[in-house]
Amino acid sequence: MTTRPYNFAAGPATLPEPVLQRAADEMLNWHASGMSVMEMTHRGAVYLGLFEKVMSDFRRLLGVPDTHRILFMQGGATAQNALVPMNLLDAGRKADYVNTGHWSTKSIREAGRYADVHTAASSGPQFLDIPPFSSWSVRPDAAYLHICGNETIGGVEYHQWPDMASLGAPNVPLVVDMSSHILSRPIDVSTFGLAYGGAQKNLGIAGLTFLIIDQRLILERVPSALPDCPSVFDYRQVLANDSMFNTPPTYAIYLTGLVLEWIDALGGAAAMGERNARKAALLYGALDASSFYQTRVAPQARSWMNVPFHLPDERLYESFLQGAVARGLLNLKGHKAVGGLRASIYNAMPIEGVQALVDWMTTFEKEHA
Ligand code: PMP
Repeated sequence: MTTRPYNFAAGPATLPEPVLQRAADEMLNWHASGMSVMEMTHRGAVYLGLFEKVMSDFRRLLGVPDTHRILFMQGGATAQNALVPMNLLDAGRKADYVNTGHWSTKSIREAGRYADVHTAASSGPQFLDIPPFSSWSVRPDAAYLHICGNETIGGVEYHQWPDMASLGAPNVPLVVDMSSHILSRPIDVSTFGLAYGGAQKNLGIAGLTFLIIDQRLILERVPSALPDCPSVFDYRQVLANDSMFNTPPTYAIYLTGLVLEWIDALGGAAAMGERNARKAALLYGALDASSFYQTRVAPQARSWMNVPFHLPDERLYESFLQGAVARGLLNLKGHKAVGGLRASIYNAMPIEGVQALVDWMTTFEKEHA
């Protein structure tokens, strides 16, 4: 294996090196088919076999119950900001949202084009925490409640899921944007009406959007999408056509398949959870032990995937980032909305990468504190 730099980008993000190696090895001739995966017809037996294995691996690794179906779509989580209301609104057109930062705000804004939107809770304007469940006001007749499971920019993550019955809305399905923490730990999928996201952080490369949906939601509760919803984005059509209403992102699906096999070989979602907990403890431990670095997110809401942090002086960022690159630590600049630094430590980031970052932080602090 080569020694590659550690890439802390927020997404598209680092991939496991064995996955990249395998994709390279299989590039010209996939499993003696004589074709690259990119060149295969999606309707052919060769590709269909591959596709079905990806679906079944995903289902098994997530522990998806029989009530739920996996859909593969395109357009990213951004498209879902419109497609969730288009597909899930009932005649009342009411949709409730919890605002925990940048990505929830975007979801809320887009939903406002289709729905009567109510913000059930917010941790704004700072967005450094998950609002306590006791402060949530969910309308019991809302078509759904939307949350962003992990705010990729703010670094705020749910470590406990809301319970709809305790919120006084037992019949309101929970919809979760899981773009940046899917398969980062075990979750009980049965508690969600819908979980969705883009694959390019924890599951593969850009181009594939995954949905895990309780099929009763679209077959019984809301049997049709809004009339303006394009057929290709109608969940019922996607479901009826086994995610092949049109040409799916064939190579992105294949790459996700390789990532799933890598996760499986390491021990599945439980192993990812342990691995990610160890990495987060290492990085937050270093941040907490220092009075030089600051991390602003409330401890109970700290993301295991995206860790924003700050330096005591604006003038230090440039040299921190330059020194990081020199040590093979890439893409640590924070998002412009939050500033500072951000380390994205998705499934594929090994603990050695986090250790290398902590070592650099220690050195830099000694030089500049
Ligand atoms: N939601 C979250 C939590 C995200 O992190 C992102 C991408 N960074 C998006 C939505 C938007 O995803 P996409 O670019 O795939 O549309």
